[in-house]
Amino acid sequence: MQTRPTANTTRQVADLLRSLNQAAVTTHVGPDGDAIGSAIALMYLLRSLGVKALFCHAEAMPSYLGWLVPSEPLEECPPGYDVLVVDTSRSDRIGAPHEEAVRLNLDHHEDNPLYGEYNLVDPDAAASAHIVAGLYTELGIALDKKTAEAIYTGIWADTGGFRFRNVSPETHELVANLLRAGVVPAEVYDRLNRTGTIEQLNIVGVSMANAEHYGEALISVVDEDDYERTRATELDSKDAIDRLRSVSGVEVVGHLRQVEEGTKASLRSERVNVGEIARALGGGGHKLAAGYTTRKAPQEAKEELLAALKDVVDLGSGTN
Ligand code: 5GP
Ligand code: MN
Repeated sequence: MQTRPTANTTRQVADLLRSLNQAAVTTHVGPDGDAIGSAIALMYLLRSLGVKALFCHAEAMPSYLGWLVPSEPLEECPPGYDVLVVDTSRSDRIGAPHEEAVRLNLDHHEDNPLYGEYNLVDPDAAASAHIVAGLYTELGIALDKKTAEAIYTGIWADTGGFRFRNVSPETHELVANLLRAGVVPAEVYDRLNRTGTIEQLNIVGVSMANAEHYGEALISVVDEDDYERTRATELDSKDAIDRLRSVSGVEVVGHLRQVEEGTKASLRSERVNVGEIARALGGGGHKLAAGYTTRKAPQEAKEELLAALKDVVDLGSGTN
């Protein structure tokens, strides 16, 4: 039996970063604010240490996060560069091809199997960006405004704008320091939230209109017809998930989106361990925010999800 590699300390990882010559920083597929924020903050940290550091990602950057990325990411990690991965729960979710093994796996998913040579994984951290901030402190490197904005974006994203249960006194203490380093929350808010398109607005509206209520569960399905009608994409529709959480008495929210391989699901809850449900269906994530992709078409995927939820929440008597 293979032994589980042990997690490293912040000090050990700080020493590792100091020893590098050139590094490729990357993150998970379908990157969000924490993925890109923590990657960019780590890249700036390496550059402050004199390491030649690049950000690599094969997919296009989501438009609302483009301002964080100082130059076009490389589509793959170049050979000979140490591969540093942030915010990525499993190695098969890394968003850039890489020949080299993963040197550092920095993350906050509790199901992270510690796939790196070095692993800095703290499930108590609200965001991977918070772990990167800890490395700045450990290395005694001051935060400048653009780094502080990248870290703030990561924390903002993974706490749902400081609303989720992962918010702690430490979150706000760090944010106080980010504001001292020059972050203006209103500016970041505008860049993250006022850069959408009419297509996004319309598909979010369709997602809300398609929501169905099953006792303590609420599920919304969007399919190709919805994309066609709104000229939006699957990625555009993802923004809907937090808008679906407003219905009284709902414990689990599911947003199911048709994709080429089948259906991609996002699950959210305030109480139920949806990470476990997502894992049972082939995905993963956090206790209260998780996802998976199934080969099933959207309507069958809905049935599959309802079957998985049956023993976890009260589904009532059907749609109401
Ligand atoms: P989202 O719903 O925002 O795409 O993802 C929520 C959380 O679930 C994130 O932490 C993300 O990494 C995780 N997640 C989403 N989809 C998948 C998946 O297909 N596989 C795994 N392992 N995790 C996922
Ligand atoms: Mn994260």
